[in-house]
Amino acid sequence: MAFTMHMKASGSSLRASSSATRSRKALSIRAAYIQKAEYVWSDGQEGQPIKGMKFNELRSKTKTLETDHGLDPSAYPDWSFDGSSTGQAEGSNSDCILKPVRVVIDPIRGAPHVLVMCEVYTADGNPHPTNTRAKLREVIDDKVKAAVPWFGLEQEYTMMSKTTGKVFGWPEGGYPAPQGPFYCGIGAESAFGRPLAEAHLEACMKAGLNISGINSEVLPGQWEYQIGPVGPLELGDEVHLSRWLLHRLGEDFGIVATFHPKPVKGDWNGTGAHTNYSTLEMRSPGGMDAILAAVDRLSKCHPEHISQYGVGNEERLTGKHETCDINTFRHGVADRGSSIRIPLPVMLKGYGYLEDRRPAANVDPYVVARLLIKNTLK
Ligand code: ADP
Ligand code: MN
Ligand code: MN
Ligand code: MN
Ligand code: MN
Repeated sequence: MAFTMHMKASGSSLRASSSATRSRKALSIRAAYIQKAEYVWSDGQEGQPIKGMKFNELRSKTKTLETDHGLDPSAYPDWSFDGSSTGQAEGSNSDCILKPVRVVIDPIRGAPHVLVMCEVYTADGNPHPTNTRAKLREVIDDKVKAAVPWFGLEQEYTMMSKTTGKVFGWPEGGYPAPQGPFYCGIGAESAFGRPLAEAHLEACMKAGLNISGINSEVLPGQWEYQIGPVGPLELGDEVHLSRWLLHRLGEDFGIVATFHPKPVKGDWNGTGAHTNYSTLEMRSPGGMDAILAAVDRLSKCHPEHISQYGVGNEERLTGKHETCDINTFRHGVADRGSSIRIPLPVMLKGYGYLEDRRPAANVDPYVVARLLIKNTLK
């Protein structure tokens, strides 16, 4: 009897709440939001230096939605933002448009919440001048598609303490031991900031990004993760989303991840974004001829690449610290002082891929992919 009473009571309260929902709807007040969509875009500024750190160029804001829109970007509505606050428009005509292009699970909020990578458009419906993804789309014609280009980007970054503004884990008012034991190092004296690097790896995997690994780097407090191999648009989308996750998780750890090409002056490694690149031909037996042909073409447009491979890259490409001097183009097998390296296993096999070692960590991945495609396949 008591049980029946209870059923009746809860049944009537359900009816009451659904009629309340109806009356809210009648008043045009939406009732239940179940999905958070974080719209992410680039402001195209490559970051402004401040106190040795660099602001990253990513921006984002949250939209709540009444239904689960899934992972198809076309299911998500366009949105707008105030371009005058991001350096992308004048105050008098400030609306910019966000067009969703890639959706992944938000690993921090969890499903059904998502991250939505967007392209930026102007109010008149054209790609915004900062929209480098649109410029990449333009070079991807049938010939490029048939070549099946793949990219793998090694994203290095340096962890800075939010409180001290110094590299995370470095002794107060001093320096750690000289470089040597830190690359792929293990132990509290060698690896600074691993909890963030681990949390970031986990987040990228949960989001379904093609993250292929992580390692600690030569400069203590510097780390790397790799995205790839993936196609050109996927590369840019996933590098941006993975950078967003790194910055977002850094908020929780009190760590600012900087992509500054030379975060510490002097005898310390800079921070790069080696980009590994191949076509179907390069990846097939006998592909070394295609790799060398691509290297030859790239040798003829070195300045064009250098001018777009990251602000401040001249501080990093000095000819020291595993780099080639910025004004020199050199390629070599297993040579970490070259502009383009052909990995030893690739040489031994006779096919595979090449590694462009020139891009700085703050490079725009859509730009690297466009330049490599344009200058090797067109
Ligand atoms: P390194 O030896 O320079 O540190 P990593 O192992 O860090 O190289 O990174 C190599 C990257 O190259 C990875 O992201 C990997 O996915 C990518 N890669 C592997 N094979 C190819 C290929 N055929 N084309 C493009 N990228 C590739
Ligand atoms: Mn406002
Ligand atoms: Mn690497
Ligand atoms: Mn590295
Ligand atoms: Mn490398």
